[in-house]
Amino acid sequence: MSLLVIGTLAYDTIETQAEKRVDVLGGSAMFFSVAAAAFRPVQLVAVVGKDFRPGDLDMLKRRGIDTSGVEHAEGRTFRWSGRYEADWNTRHTIETQLNVFEKFDPKIPAAMRLSKYLFLANASPVVQAKALDQVEHPAFTVLDTMNLWIEIMRPELMALLRRVDGVVLNDEEARMLTGERNLIKAASLVLGMGPRYVILKKGEHGAFLMGNDVHFSLPAYPVKKVVDPTGAGDTFAGGFMGHVAREGNIAPKTLRKAMLYGTVAASYCVEDFGVDALKNTGLGDFDVRYEELLGIVTP
Ligand code: AMP
Repeated sequence: MSLLVIGTLAYDTIETQAEKRVDVLGGSAMFFSVAAAAFRPVQLVAVVGKDFRPGDLDMLKRRGIDTSGVEHAEGRTFRWSGRYEADWNTRHTIETQLNVFEKFDPKIPAAMRLSKYLFLANASPVVQAKALDQVEHPAFTVLDTMNLWIEIMRPELMALLRRVDGVVLNDEEARMLTGERNLIKAASLVLGMGPRYVILKKGEHGAFLMGNDVHFSLPAYPVKKVVDPTGAGDTFAGGFMGHVAREGNIAPKTLRKAMLYGTVAASYCVEDFGVDALKNTGLGDFDVRYEELLGIVTP
């Protein structure tokens, strides 16, 4: 089944306790598509500036990602910079430069409008809604967002939540959105806002999925050395949606397995900066860690 993603392609500046890197390839749609492409061909809609390195687009194409929906606009590519505390879970955004994303008016190519599986990766809810308007009959639409949009575009985000099937949030975003500290209660409140499924990501503590017909919880895969957690959430979503699109259904068993694939995909993401580790992985690598994770959680 076809899988469409809309979101950011970015150059990130990342400061960890060990190292600082400038203009690392990233963006919500970047991580998502590199992960999901291990499962299914991915169609990507995004915008980049004139400074976007051609080799970065080539990498996506080599992975089987359809980049014909990537617009090349005058100006600079979206940029984000952040710094991690020693615990990795605390991240400070230093700067967000929307650049070409500020005026982005997504145009989904005709052939992509029939996509059945749609991921609205982290982007302004206005852009996400414009993309959703153009997809004809999506079977399963999942949304990601972040603290910035919850703060400055809450009404737009609330309207969008009523139109999607699922939402992925980290613990901080769930608390901001609902005002509730207890994550189980927060997840229930999010379900009351419209979506049928909510996935809460808790960084190194794993993730859980809640919906009317399913409740499933997983620890993170035990990565030996974290280098850069940027994009782990988007990568999780890529593994999750990639498996769902491959199966072509949203039965509870599919969704539970998809949680394992999301977790495994994220484990590769954090092992290097940007998509450096992720871009060299294939389904075989994912399957190896899938089995290991299964061994960890099965009595
Ligand atoms: P994650 O670590 O999963 O939250 O994703 C980090 C990625 O999201 C980075 O590559 C950023 O370029 C991108 N990003 C940061 N801020 C935003 C934003 N406001 N909208 C869309 N993407 C963003």
